[in-house]
Amino acid sequence: MRVALFSLACLTAAPAFASAAFAAAPPNRAVANIPPRPSRFRLPPVLGPAKASLPLVVIDAGHGGHDPGSSSADGRTNEKDVALEIAKAIRDSLIESGKVRVALTRSDDRFLVLAERREIARRLRADLFISIHCDSAPTPAARGASIYTLSETSSDRVSAALAARENKADVINGVDLSRETNDVSSILIDLAQRETMNVSSAFATLVQRELSPLISLKPDFHKYAGLMVLKAPDVPSVLLETGYISNDADLALLTSSGYREKIATGIRRAIEAHFARQRIERAEDREDM
Ligand code: ZN
Repeated sequence: MRVALFSLACLTAAPAFASAAFAAAPPNRAVANIPPRPSRFRLPPVLGPAKASLPLVVIDAGHGGHDPGSSSADGRTNEKDVALEIAKAIRDSLIESGKVRVALTRSDDRFLVLAERREIARRLRADLFISIHCDSAPTPAARGASIYTLSETSSDRVSAALAARENKADVINGVDLSRETNDVSSILIDLAQRETMNVSSAFATLVQRELSPLISLKPDFHKYAGLMVLKAPDVPSVLLETGYISNDADLALLTSSGYREKIATGIRRAIEAHFARQRIERAEDREDM
């Protein structure tokens, strides 16, 4: 992370964004000092121990409001509701552990554009962003969980189709996606994004390790796609597809409290391992200096 940190130092001189709240941010932030975009939206409450030194994890329940996401074969269960319940289970598990702080991008049935979701994480100076979704496929036999991290090129056609489907949430709400490229055009931000993508990938590997004993994962669990919601240049981000809402057996799991608990447990363990690893790496960096 050092290269990105030093390279971005010149971006710190943005007085409009300087505030006491930012100055008090935890020191373990991956890449500091890229000013968040000014915005009109309200930030959600930060839950858990009132210790700013603890890492902050933002959990994002996909879709919401007039965007239901995918639906079950019988049309009675929507992805937005399943994702919210799983996000809340993860939130509760993290609060119970007391090792991190946590915030939800939404805790009720409301619509947020994709950029707003990741900007919430940035403005809260989150250390990790996890977007929760359910998969769907035309073939009802498709089953299992998978995870996505950001890449400019999708790892396969399924990933490209998923990115097109998920990114559509903004297109249908009249958001001009062409502006996004301008926002992240700086080569310095590109550098930071690359470092952040590496950290995101490492976290995805931990999620795989911790979830695999608990729930059924797809053989190609970790994939890459150009998902708008993952494009915060300075917050490591993953999108977890928790199972197929289009498959009846997966649907039964996705709507059960037992399955939600298993996902919450696996994610909590992965988060704890992730930050424990970062603490060790920072200590080693200090010894090298
Ligand atoms: Zn989705």
